[in-house]
Amino acid sequence: MYRQGVAAARAVGRFFGGYHQARSVKRRGMKLLLANPRGFCAGVYMAIDVLDQLLEIYPDKPIYVLHEIVHNQHVVDRFRHRGVRFVDAIDEVPRRAVVVFSAHGVSPALRRQASERELTTIDATCPLVTKVHMEAIRYAKKGYQIVLIGHADHQEIIGTRGEAPEAIQVVTSPAQVASLEIKDPQKLVYLTQTTLSMDEASVIITALRTAYPQIKDPPSDDICYATTNRQKAVHAIAPECDLVLVIGSKNSSNSVRLTEIAQATGTSAHLIDDDSELDDAWFDGVETVLITAGASAPEDLVRKVVRTLIDSFGGEVEQRDVFHESVEFGLPGTLKEFMLAQGVDPTGRTIVRDDAVALDTWLTEQDITHRTIQVTIGQSC
Ligand code: SF4
Repeated sequence: MYRQGVAAARAVGRFFGGYHQARSVKRRGMKLLLANPRGFCAGVYMAIDVLDQLLEIYPDKPIYVLHEIVHNQHVVDRFRHRGVRFVDAIDEVPRRAVVVFSAHGVSPALRRQASERELTTIDATCPLVTKVHMEAIRYAKKGYQIVLIGHADHQEIIGTRGEAPEAIQVVTSPAQVASLEIKDPQKLVYLTQTTLSMDEASVIITALRTAYPQIKDPPSDDICYATTNRQKAVHAIAPECDLVLVIGSKNSSNSVRLTEIAQATGTSAHLIDDDSELDDAWFDGVETVLITAGASAPEDLVRKVVRTLIDSFGGEVEQRDVFHESVEFGLPGTLKEFMLAQGVDPTGRTIVRDDAVALDTWLTEQDITHRTIQVTIGQSC
């Protein structure tokens, strides 16, 4: 395993007086490209901020979260260690307790169950997921049938479908278009999961348009800005690399899509939760590695991977600035109301956004050679 390789290199380095000798044990000059943007999106920053704030207000009372707050094992484990309890069903939450709905959103049926149990609900659903819910409600009210493109077992799709179950059919592949039951092709619209691969969605949309030429597009793109930007960055940079490392959890839809996109460019790619999953065998003959991270993966995990690779192989870091993101979401109204009821000012934020400048500072502190290159590939979001 990679860990063993690194440990051996470090041991040799210590024997000869430092990591510089350790690097020469392996090979010199690996180039690590870091895709910007990568990692946390505005929705994930907001969801994490919600739990951070609740933990401050309610240090001694249990806080429950329905499903994982975001799809990242490290984020969930860190909150679990701070006392947050994650549950898979509303009836696991004691009556009148505080429960947080995760960033992926919930169905109206779950909201009703929570109200029946007299729970205090704090809604950390990403506003861009809520936007898709609203579109579904609006079209269903107008009598449209809705084709929802996405993964049927993903919490976001379960939540959106729950808004109008009688009007919505889910498709995951072009082949499933043939089995749709459509009453009136004139009253048909498609919506999509926010974290789909743009390429994957476009193949399904083409199949839908071929079968139902009058199908309406959503009022605006449902695949969110963060998914789009991270995918475009990987599309642009992966072809010049020997290997792509995507940091994220296996149940993170957008992280899985980033890995697939990298592989589709012909470059070998692996999805890893953290540096402990690195494998020596992946690096044979590899000179250039692209590192990116899914929208729910913390930046400190990226830094650990960089540090581990530099310790083992030496080399330098190049940040590739593809898009600058400025999207930010305020705290949800349900949390603000709750804070006011507790006599707490709801205007503060606890979260600090990571950016290219912060990484530059860290690389300098770490004595890692680095530079930043601007890449122009299209519109920024
Ligand atoms: S990936 Fe997009 S939709 Fe999902 S939480 Fe982030 S911004 Fe919201």
